Amino acid sequence: MILFLPRPISIANLSNNIITFLYEVRGKGTHIISKLNQGGDKLELLGPLGNGFDLNIKGKIALISGGIGIAPMIYLAKELEGDIDFYCGFRNEVYYIDIIKEDVDNLFISTEDGSLGHKGL
Ligand SMILES: Cc1cc2nc3c(=O)[nH]c(=O)nc-3n(C[C@H](O)[C@H](O)[C@H](O)COP(=O)(O)OP(=O)(O)OC[C@H]3O[C@@H](n4cnc5c(N)ncnc54)[C@H](O)[C@@H]3O)c2cc1C
Repeated sequence: MILFLPRPISIANLSNNIITFLYEVRGKGTHIISKLNQGGDKLELLGPLGNGFDLNIKGKIALISGGIGIAPMIYLAKELEGDIDFYCGFRNEVYYIDIIKEDVDNLFISTEDGSLGHKGL
């Protein structure tokens, strides 16, 4: 068991008793997480924490997020009923959009370097 202070990480998916986290290696804690061995190492989780999202919203919904901030929106998009426009912005590297596409009606991408989608924020 590896011990370190908790870091807030969103639930990116929950399916068939498996929780998915999408994370970016930023510092020491996320670096340690990235080195965990599948099937061998264990992590202690505390949660879910926070207020969550209102899932009773219906109709046309816009979800807006940037970078790793897309993580909680992926699971939210799955759970919401309605027409979902998903706006996501990235600096340069675009990730996870093939999975996001499965659960949204329209996907709008922007990149700061213009490599994909709208150029800008
Ligand atoms: C609500 C919420 C949801 C988030 N969801 C995600 C997500 O889904 N995916 C994702 O990638 N990121 C997410 N983040 C951001 C993520 O929490 C940070 O990127 C992560 O905590 C960085 O941890 P780190 O150790 O790699 O970085 P560091 O910058 O090294 O450390 C993070 C924090 O821990 C403190 N710290 C580090 N070591 C110690 C120590 N020994 N003692 C005391 N304090 C210490 C640092 O001062 C810093 O404030 C979320 C953040 C919030 C607030």
